[in-house]
Amino acid sequence: MRTAKDCFKILRDIRDTSMATVGKDGLPRLRIIDTMLVESDDEGDRLYFLTARGKDFYRELMENRYVAITGLNDRWETVRVRGKVANAGQELLEKIFIENPSMNNVYPGDTRDILEVFCLYEGEGEYFCLATEPIERESFSFGPGEVTEKGYEITNECIGCGTCSTGCPQKAIDDGQLYVIRQNNCLHCGRCYENCPVQAIIRK
Ligand code: SF4
Ligand code: SF4
Repeated sequence: MRTAKDCFKILRDIRDTSMATVGKDGLPRLRIIDTMLVESDDEGDRLYFLTARGKDFYRELMENRYVAITGLNDRWETVRVRGKVANAGQELLEKIFIENPSMNNVYPGDTRDILEVFCLYEGEGEYFCLATEPIERESFSFGPGEVTEKGYEITNECIGCGTCSTGCPQKAIDDGQLYVIRQNNCLHCGRCYENCPVQAIIRK
């Protein structure tokens, strides 16, 4: 089972991750922002990034304190997380510059004093891999965050006709007295939900 620590490590290895905020107009804003540092210890799992005080991104973070991050690596593994961020000031700047030396080209010398570090410390996420057959997905939370159940579920109304299992693109439904969706292999495509003759499948 993949943990938040494992998935933060994937984002750190990707490094150039996509990060979304909500703008003042209530619409999404998406940018490539480097995942600069990840830490996991007794205090939890944390992901750090930084930005300059003059940027819209900084203002959106200070006003909303919430981000969504996603990245895809060359093994077709996607990690996406969303959660709360805190302004971590400049205490970690030096460590971040040591671990990401290219930052010295972007903000040489003391120009780094315009930067502030942000920490993602609470939320939930998902690991998704399209390279396996069937596909794999796992959910995780970090900090006091909890996993929000998503996808589809077969209820006691199931009459065992097998339509859902036959038509599932990932063959992710096991037969039995009641058919069961293997959640870790499900695409969340909804095809079983649309085709069940007795509406025994619910959206979670
Ligand atoms: S299609 Fe509906 S009734 Fe048929 S096996 Fe699937 S869940 Fe059960
Ligand atoms: S939602 Fe799609 S992938 Fe998941 S069990 Fe139903 S048909 Fe299969």
